[in-house]
Amino acid sequence: MDRISIRLEQEGPVNAIKMTSQFLHIPLFKVYAFFIDGLMIDTGFAHGRDKFLAFCDTFHPEIVVNTHHHEDHVGNNFWIAKKYGLLPLAHPKTSSYLQTPSQWVPFYRRVVCGCPHPSETGQVDSEIQTRNFRFMVINTPGHTEDHICLYEPNEGWLFSGDLFVSVQVKYLRKGEEIYSIIDSLEKVVVLHPKKMFCCFSGIVDQAEEAIHRKIEYLRNLKKEVEKGLQQGLSTREMQRRLLGRGDRFSFLSAGQFSKENLINAILKAKRG
Ligand SMILES: [Zn+2]
Repeated sequence: MDRISIRLEQEGPVNAIKMTSQFLHIPLFKVYAFFIDGLMIDTGFAHGRDKFLAFCDTFHPEIVVNTHHHEDHVGNNFWIAKKYGLLPLAHPKTSSYLQTPSQWVPFYRRVVCGCPHPSETGQVDSEIQTRNFRFMVINTPGHTEDHICLYEPNEGWLFSGDLFVSVQVKYLRKGEEIYSIIDSLEKVVVLHPKKMFCCFSGIVDQAEEAIHRKIEYLRNLKKEVEKGLQQGLSTREMQRRLLGRGDRFSFLSAGQFSKENLINAILKAKRG
């Protein structure tokens, strides 16, 4: 049975490649990579290698950029470098992660996405020029310390990696810095992006409004957690009241991805 499906969505000259990992036809995980004018943004996850490389053949990549080091964004770096002789570019902190992926990719992610082969990256410049477009590279830490977004000012396109994800996030990965995420969202929203290309949600229209709504949601959540603290509520109780009952991803990911992580990220920043 085919465990990986890959589908192409198009928005003008932008090609969005949606890769889904599934089990018994139940989708477990999805991620988008993008291809525009010779530029490939992220390389999907390792389990989708053959299908992803087949897609690449139709696009002829000339420049490859990773938005951050997570295994679902760099999964085929090694194979792209080998096949096309391209050195993927990324934030300077990305390279050390990619030398030893087996040391930090959690077990549940290996099962669902696969573990990337160790690979090299070069340092991305502050701008990327393709034949028809110019992309500004913006440091946007929070989801990870090495996260970057690409912004095309003439078109109003924001390639947001995992910065946005969705407005009302209820789960957080361990190690994410919630206040850095808010700062990074504020950094990109002032650019007035028109369209966002998100690695989780795909193509998002009215990008500026969506980012404003997310900032407001997170600020409000912070206020509610502060209120909960004053009332002496436990983390578990705040989680239940603010994010709803249950935390099934926490169980499946052995606590790597959970509602509790989101509450704790707010509490940690408050105490810090
Ligand atoms: Zn990520």
